[in-house]
Amino acid sequence: MAAAAAAANGGGDAVVYDVIVVGAGIMGSCAAYAAASSSSSSRVLLLEQFDLLHHRGSSHGESRTIRATYPQPHYPPMVRLAARLWHDAQRDAGYTVLTPTPHLDMGPRDDAALLASIRNGGAVELAAGDGDGEAWAPSRVFRIPEGWTAARSELGGVMKATKAVAMFQALAARSGAVVRDRTEVVDVTKRGDGLILVKTSTGEEFQGAKCIITVGAWASKLVKSVAGVDLPVTPLHTLICYWKAKPGREHELTPESGFPTFASYGQPYIYSTPSMEFPGLIKIATHGGPPCDPDSRDWLAGVVSGGAGADLVEPVARRDWLAGVVSGGAGADLVEPVARWIDEFMPDHVDTAGGPVIRQSCMYSMTPDEDFIIDFVGGDFGKDVVVGAGFSGHGFKMGPAVGRILAEMAIDGEARTAAEAGVELRHFRIGRFEGNPEGNLAENKFKSWLKIT
Ligand SMILES: Cc1cc2nc3c(=O)[nH]c(=O)nc-3n(C[C@H](O)[C@H](O)[C@H](O)COP(=O)(O)OP(=O)(O)OC[C@H]3O[C@@H](n4cnc5c(N)ncnc54)[C@H](O)[C@@H]3O)c2cc1C
Repeated sequence: MAAAAAAANGGGDAVVYDVIVVGAGIMGSCAAYAAASSSSSSRVLLLEQFDLLHHRGSSHGESRTIRATYPQPHYPPMVRLAARLWHDAQRDAGYTVLTPTPHLDMGPRDDAALLASIRNGGAVELAAGDGDGEAWAPSRVFRIPEGWTAARSELGGVMKATKAVAMFQALAARSGAVVRDRTEVVDVTKRGDGLILVKTSTGEEFQGAKCIITVGAWASKLVKSVAGVDLPVTPLHTLICYWKAKPGREHELTPESGFPTFASYGQPYIYSTPSMEFPGLIKIATHGGPPCDPDSRDWLAGVVSGGAGADLVEPVARRDWLAGVVSGGAGADLVEPVARWIDEFMPDHVDTAGGPVIRQSCMYSMTPDEDFIIDFVGGDFGKDVVVGAGFSGHGFKMGPAVGRILAEMAIDGEARTAAEAGVELRHFRIGRFEGNPEGNLAENKFKSWLKIT
């Protein structure tokens, strides 16, 4: 309470926090909760540069997918740990943010990444003919081509993204953490007495024994200026598109009718969540996007929507959406390949004629190998500053696991829970890029899947 009062008065310099977390997206919010609920740290401070639950980072929106089918074998153990922690957090909060569904992966039968995902995630290939709906009704929705295969797995589902971030912030606060928004961190230094000093753009200073940096697309900038460490994290502008279900088909695309989250391998890589948040609409999008500056975004790419109200925006622009005129640049290429895919794979169920009904912009923080960065910053900071970054468009599902790992690394110097769950953190070290700009990609067999568009 003393900490809360001091910080609320803008006098955080009087308090020595056990852990200061910088950045309140899903990773920072989960880390703050994990630290605040740990028996060995009671004073936790979570700092966010913008308003809480803002739309300028990577963790906002209506939905994110959880699945255990990954080509790289190091992710399924982390997904399973996360699934357990999602369950625990929902129990502690008293409400749910995750709707379980089956998950469907499909792709060319000879696609090595798909086959490895099926194997690593314990998915079961549908028998020939299932594409015609003989065994599993939801697969009837897709026209799966000759030479392709499809596999069903049970660990799938949809997380309400913004609601989930809010849940972890509320849980952190309930566990005693101080949560401060509109507080931009500009520097982190180590004092002579060993404490970490966190400075903000308004001149406030906060002291902590440990610091966790989870600043998403801003990671390269902040970590370079604070620690002189180069993190190869590239911010990408990406787009979520919602498409209209064809009349009479709406219910078939809902979780209530058993419709899965799904991914389609090859080029383009397509992912989707069932129709939930906007009745009659389904989210179908592609992975990746063009590089962007998180402090200078092309917002036009995400604001134009069709359907009701379109005339209030710009009907002329809407007409040419396939040519990329609507967005006027960044993001345009993220629509047309999706429309083509829908026309080929779901022509009876989803309407592409008017373009996507809703577009929402978002950012990825890409590493060259699309593996996360979870490590001590090192140098003068030793093990006192931990960074979680580069979640490369697939980190949300792992948020509670990453948060627990970061908190344990900061507080205890090692991530015990990860080790017990069989999660190998060596894949996420910063050092993998030393003299090797491709990181884990150098040994990865799945380069086509990992291609950044
Ligand atoms: C369109 C889209 C779809 C996705 N789909 C999925 C999916 O289906 N499944 C999945 O698992 N993942 C998915 N992801 C990825 C997932 O959402 C991200 O990996 C995750 O949200 C990254 O969270 P973060 O906390 O690292 O970053 P962010 O959410 O960006 O949080 C970082 C925070 O730090 C703050 N910050 C930055 N600098 C400072 C500073 N100097 N001082 C204080 N605060 C600062 C920022 O304002 C921000 O709030 C998707 C991402 C996008 C964009």
